[in-house]
Amino acid sequence: MRSIDPQVTRVLDATAKLLGRRLALAGEDAENGCSIVSRMKPGVPRVGIRDLDGRPFSEEERDFVKEIADLMLNDLVASDEALALEQRLRMLEKEKVELSMKNRALAEISSRDALTGLFNRWYVLEKIEAEMNRCLRHGSPMSLLMLDIDHFRQINESHGHSAGDQVLQTVGRLLRESCRIYDIPGRYGGEEFCLMLPETTLEKTLPVAERLRQRVEAAHVAAGDSMLRITASIGLAGLENVPDEAIFGATALVERADRAMGSAKDRGRNRVEAWSSGAMARHGEPT
Ligand code: GH3
Ligand code: MG
Ligand code: MG
Repeated sequence: MRSIDPQVTRVLDATAKLLGRRLALAGEDAENGCSIVSRMKPGVPRVGIRDLDGRPFSEEERDFVKEIADLMLNDLVASDEALALEQRLRMLEKEKVELSMKNRALAEISSRDALTGLFNRWYVLEKIEAEMNRCLRHGSPMSLLMLDIDHFRQINESHGHSAGDQVLQTVGRLLRESCRIYDIPGRYGGEEFCLMLPETTLEKTLPVAERLRQRVEAAHVAAGDSMLRITASIGLAGLENVPDEAIFGATALVERADRAMGSAKDRGRNRVEAWSSGAMARHGEPT
């Protein structure tokens, strides 16, 4: 192989860094899935780039690396062109870093509810779905808790929307404080909250729900000159007594917990109810 301009080596190094691969120049023998040989030209030696770890190149990487190999072969990498190429690589690398930072920030923002800082409905549904699949594979339990603030409309109407928002923030905080690190607390929408508890049976979820209900009942929310008192109704649903093959989707589980919560409303509010086909049937609803 002929002597290689140091600029070429720099371009090669930058390319390797951008692609996250270990690359080297290759000579005559470079002709398999993990090397790229530049365009042949009569009387000019073949020059290529190969992956030192033997990993094949994707279509996109192949085009990119091929472009660079062609430049080297055709002696196009004159000093200024090499510099321009280096600059382009540096810019691409910077853009790549910025893009991944933006993506991370975007994922964080799009998974959170702005008012309470809890996860939003879409994120929670995604997590429930994933957890349900895991339960199906391992036969492990999981539960879902849905909480709805009682007579919340009255709070808004009597004390104003910002008092209502304060109540929502307080309930959000109480919910967060009531769960373990691997539980997923969310604001399902409006004044409805949810909590997904992996590896937890309905039986174990009941005291968690009861404690949360009591904390909501005991809370004092400052709204202007007055201290507001609130209560909430809670519904629970789990995967117990659901045959593996009948495990339904996330929204169906939410619906069950919602129906249990509706039953808590019917029975006087400020209480916890767990979904069970019998109990729901007693309330005149289809199971
Ligand atoms: P129930 O005990 O049956 O649940 O009665 P409720 O008044 O809580 O239920 P309803 O669904 O009739 O009212 C919910 C209210 O929640 C209506 C809406 O104005 C209010 N709301 C929804 N989102 C927000 C919000 O982000 N901020 C505030 N302040 N209020 C909200
Ligand atoms: Mg509601
Ligand atoms: Mg309500």
